[in-house]
Amino acid sequence: MVHYLDHAATTPLRPQALAAMQAQWGQVGNPSSLHTAGRQARRVVEESREQIAALIGAKPADVIFTSGGTEADNLAVKGLARNSQRRRVLVSAVEHHAVLDPANALAEEGKIVELIPVDALGRVDVSALEQMLDDDVALVAIMWANNEVGTIQPVAEVAGLCAARGVPFHTDAVQALGQIDLDLSDIPSVALSAHKVGGPVGVGALVLDRDLAVRPLVHGGGQERDVRSGTLDTAGIAGFAAALAADKPDLAPLRDALVDGVLRVVPDAILNGDPVDRLANNAHFSFPGCPGDALLMLLDAAGVAVSTGSACTAGIPQPSHVLLAMGADESVARSSLRFSLGWNSAPEDVDALLSALPAAVERARRAGGL
Ligand code: PLP
Repeated sequence: MVHYLDHAATTPLRPQALAAMQAQWGQVGNPSSLHTAGRQARRVVEESREQIAALIGAKPADVIFTSGGTEADNLAVKGLARNSQRRRVLVSAVEHHAVLDPANALAEEGKIVELIPVDALGRVDVSALEQMLDDDVALVAIMWANNEVGTIQPVAEVAGLCAARGVPFHTDAVQALGQIDLDLSDIPSVALSAHKVGGPVGVGALVLDRDLAVRPLVHGGGQERDVRSGTLDTAGIAGFAAALAADKPDLAPLRDALVDGVLRVVPDAILNGDPVDRLANNAHFSFPGCPGDALLMLLDAAGVAVSTGSACTAGIPQPSHVLLAMGADESVARSSLRFSLGWNSAPEDVDALLSALPAAVERARRAGGL
């Protein structure tokens, strides 16, 4: 039996999403076709669009379906910046690679990409951003909540600041969706992903204010208001809406039990991220002297699935750019693990972690290698 504590990477499909998709998989009909079968598929897409928009305080017409969070981020970052004569692109230092890498691609095209600093808890420095804003800024991108350490950003404040300066603002809400009650009404550009909330992998959305002109990445049949061509995945979109509509358990009490338990069984563990303004499903620790990847493998052998939270490049674990931006040194950044909960997490999953962790930490420490 696997105790799955990696819901931030992907969370199991919710039964409601599976049922909604099964109802569509047997159907034929391209939502762009004009005949009855096409119109039936279109109705499912539009009802799902309305349902998703209602659940996040957005306008249905602003929802552009994509192949996931990565495409939504790429479309916003590249599409908004390329459409602007302005040269500067400001992104927080703790963004996911789905934002950082398109920003770096823009740098190759002549844009000037600058990182907005964060404090030791991973919160963006709003006054630094204020100083950075000027009439040459094409785009600001700051994620709603961090995928590694769970810190929630002051998104409404940043959106207000950018609006006052006439600068488009994009936020990656992939980890925040389903964990925080989102109200997107004053946020011009937001990336979402279905598989982090129990919908299918390969479906997401960019929720983009219609007043913002974006240059498409994918050209073709002109679907999704000519911004994102490609036949719509009716079943996947229905699954996304059903997953988002499903009841969400309050994960904070179980997360708090996990945090307290880890600090009890490994007293020198360090909780990273904002202790208060953090995602209810996230706990992220550094274990001094303990290589995170070795610890991950030892826990895996004990039936507990966790993550180092940071990306691998060609199979080689990299120190987390998020922790480095928060001021951690490289050895601390390499000694970290993320535990993330989801809709079907149970106290037994936390118990399994707490019983396996002390021996795993001990062994990983002895093996060394940091
Ligand atoms: N943004 C964040 C913050 C994420 O955590 C992820 C997924 O790991 C993504 C974007 C990418 O989303 P997707 O897997 O749907 O492409």
